[in-house]
Amino acid sequence: MKKELLRKLPSVDSILKDSKTAGFLKERSRPIVVEAIRTALDKERELIKGSEARIYRFNIGEFRKKVETEIEKSGKLSMARVVNATGVILHTNLGRAPLPVSALKNLIEVSTAYANLEFDLEKGERGERYSHLEPLLCRLTGSEAALVVNNNAAAVLLVLNTLAEGKEVIVSRGELVEIGGSFRIPDVMRKSAASLVEVGTTNRTHLNDYEAAMTPETSLIMKVHRSNFDMVGFTADVPIQDLAKLGKENNIPVMNDLGSGSLVDLSGYGIKREPTVQDSVAGGIDVITFSGDKLLGGPQAGIIVGKKEIIAAIKKNPLTRALRIDKLTVAALEATLKVYMDELKAFHEIPVLRMLTLQVADLAKTARRLLKGLRGIPGGRFEVSIRDGFSQVGGGAMPLQEIPTKLVVIKAKGISPNRLEKKLRTNSNAIVARIEQDEVVFDMRTLIEGDIEIITRFFKGASIG
Ligand SMILES: *Cc1c(COP(=O)(O)O)cnc(C)c1O
Repeated sequence: MKKELLRKLPSVDSILKDSKTAGFLKERSRPIVVEAIRTALDKERELIKGSEARIYRFNIGEFRKKVETEIEKSGKLSMARVVNATGVILHTNLGRAPLPVSALKNLIEVSTAYANLEFDLEKGERGERYSHLEPLLCRLTGSEAALVVNNNAAAVLLVLNTLAEGKEVIVSRGELVEIGGSFRIPDVMRKSAASLVEVGTTNRTHLNDYEAAMTPETSLIMKVHRSNFDMVGFTADVPIQDLAKLGKENNIPVMNDLGSGSLVDLSGYGIKREPTVQDSVAGGIDVITFSGDKLLGGPQAGIIVGKKEIIAAIKKNPLTRALRIDKLTVAALEATLKVYMDELKAFHEIPVLRMLTLQVADLAKTARRLLKGLRGIPGGRFEVSIRDGFSQVGGGAMPLQEIPTKLVVIKAKGISPNRLEKKLRTNSNAIVARIEQDEVVFDMRTLIEGDIEIITRFFKGASIG
């Protein structure tokens, strides 16, 4: 019987001959319509093969609607805006840091026309793309020189390869981290052709461990910030100042992979003090690497700041060309760094900093606004309430930091929290919420302008249940 139904399905050609389906061709090109018909036909076959075979009947009118839906789908972009109601600020799967508006404006300005990316306008000759970022980075961090590559993983690879190819690098056993997406210090070390010399133990490493490991082959001492885990109890590690001193005495450069790389001290806002880039520079570290899209809150980038000779050597490495940033990154990062020149402005205009420092009273206001919107929906088959909760920094930064927040809790009648969460997620304006205590909750901390309206619209239009 299934075979019979499958055989009876019309062909693509005969559907195209159907006068109403042929009408699609007036507005769309033929390949798009043909592809949509093929996809819709494939779905019919699945229906027949599935459990609904017995009640299956092909209906050209309904099929036409399905083709229309497929045509619409084919025009949609795969990556789209998403409402992040998870409360995870640097949500790696949702694009990490949302860009400041000024970065976006600059990006459009610079990239929809030509730009002096590598052109020195004064001299009328070839310039350097890094020249737009280096002075700003030096001013903000106090370093002598700077360079920016694709991401921090690339920055680490590049520094290791430049300073330690075929040589030894000393790292504490307590700092051999793995970052999400399979970035592991020992693996990056191998790919950079440097050899890793582990010192100390998992929980304790002392200055004399580093001293004892030094050989004529030692070309770098590396310190890695434990961004995504914390150690408590009987622990010890060596302060950067002591490592810097040891390096200087032995004429060996010292590197610090900071990862999250904050340019501001957040401890005034109830957030644990992360080491800042400025701390590392002032502590005498020779070369420092950090991400552009973690706590800095800019575009994806790997920022390298440090001593002039080291940055000059890195610029000469052929790998630098392979890892270089494009003009979009230069535009977005320069505008982001410009905002940091005025720290107060940074806390207002950099979304990551704004979200990190939002006060619970502000979040309560947002929660009440959403509550009002949802309760105002006539015939809404759900209950809404507000409760306290915690947001997270995310992006592998400050894993233990719990930031007090306000949650809007929603319970819909006749639909399980898991199904509601999926409906929200697969909505045409995707809303990513979190499930907590078997309820769907929206964390107010990570909402962006316009998100409240998107959520309200979902519940207005939703045939939930
Ligand atoms: C995040 C992180 C990296 C990788 O940075 P990306 O920008 O994701 O490439 C490397 N090292 C540390 C310590 C990190 O926290």
